[in-house]
Amino acid sequence: MYLSKNKILITGGAGFLGSHLTEKLLKEGHDVLVVDNFFTGTKQNLAHLLGNANLEVMRHDVTFPLYVEINQIYNLACPASPVHYQFDPVQTTKTSVHGAINMLGLAKRTRARILQASTSEVYGDPEVHPQPEGYWGRVNPIGIRSCYDEGKRCAETLFFDYHRQHQTDIKVVRIFNTYGPRMHPNDGRVVSNFIVQALQGKDITIYGDGSQTRSFCYVDDLIDAMVRMMNSEEGFTGPVNIGNPGEFTMLQLAELVLQLSGSKSKIVYQSLPSDDPKQRQPNIELAKAKLAWEPKVKLEDGLKETIAYFKRLIQ
Ligand code: NAD
Ligand code: UDP
Repeated sequence: MYLSKNKILITGGAGFLGSHLTEKLLKEGHDVLVVDNFFTGTKQNLAHLLGNANLEVMRHDVTFPLYVEINQIYNLACPASPVHYQFDPVQTTKTSVHGAINMLGLAKRTRARILQASTSEVYGDPEVHPQPEGYWGRVNPIGIRSCYDEGKRCAETLFFDYHRQHQTDIKVVRIFNTYGPRMHPNDGRVVSNFIVQALQGKDITIYGDGSQTRSFCYVDDLIDAMVRMMNSEEGFTGPVNIGNPGEFTMLQLAELVLQLSGSKSKIVYQSLPSDDPKQRQPNIELAKAKLAWEPKVKLEDGLKETIAYFKRLIQ
């Protein structure tokens, strides 16, 4: 056990995905260092784990260098919801780009393996559907989503240049829309918005006509894939798509949330934000082949768990 224990750094570990990852790695017996500036993450997300002697939590902004001794890094620090990443767009780009440089520098010095939480947003508003990893994407470089999309694209570039130039041991996952317990209730993402609105009897806000699609992955499936990727064979860098290929329109999602929560809320239509992708669905053939992974949780089952979580939180 002593020899197989890893010292693992998780940046953004107090966020939605980071807290689930922290929980899983602690369960596996590893030593985990969470680094977070608590912009969107909360200490509450980790409260149930704080008694574990293998967990250390440090307030730190990844746009500044970090000197610690570790052998694996999961780089998740970055606000993920459009509302949050557009709040201070310059800081969002800095977090992705300077954050990647700092964490790659740390990986280079310590010879740690480093995994980047990239995103389906690198495909922008795609013309190829579903999206395979070989598709280069269609991203507006100067729009309101660009701080996030281009920041993440530049981070991928840095990962591959560190790999080519310094032989850094990298892993890149492109995460598609993920949902589940511990999403922030005011996060602004569609699943949390619809559930909170339904539970509070408020109008369900569909942006646009609701015909745009997303493919939603339950958090447990996603975390399983991320850990498999970190521990995948030497030399397999990715990028690899991880997500659930089940594709739904936002109107279908709204109707499902209403049905599962038993809510009487009504659906209202609001204007569509600019550059909002019209469709999104992962091609996960590479993840199936290389990670022996595919998602198990159906949208309906995952939504039931998430609705139960928000009920406990807000009612
Ligand atoms: P989140 O907002 O809940 O978590 C992000 C965490 O990063 C928060 O704890 C936040 O406080 C922290 N953070 C932000 N800026 C930081 C900085 N400069 N220094 C240190 N910490 C900082 O979002 P999430 O859904 O958990 O997403 C985690 C990662 O996964 C992000 O990198 C995101 O881009 C990526 N991702 C998520 C999804 C999704 O659907 N959840 C999809 C694609 C990609
Ligand atoms: N959306 C919506 N109502 C909301 C929040 C979001 O109709 O209250 C739409 C949004 O316009 C987008 C989709 O839901 O088409 C997913 O939005 P989210 O912010 O969750 O993620 P992303 O656009 O980054 O995939």
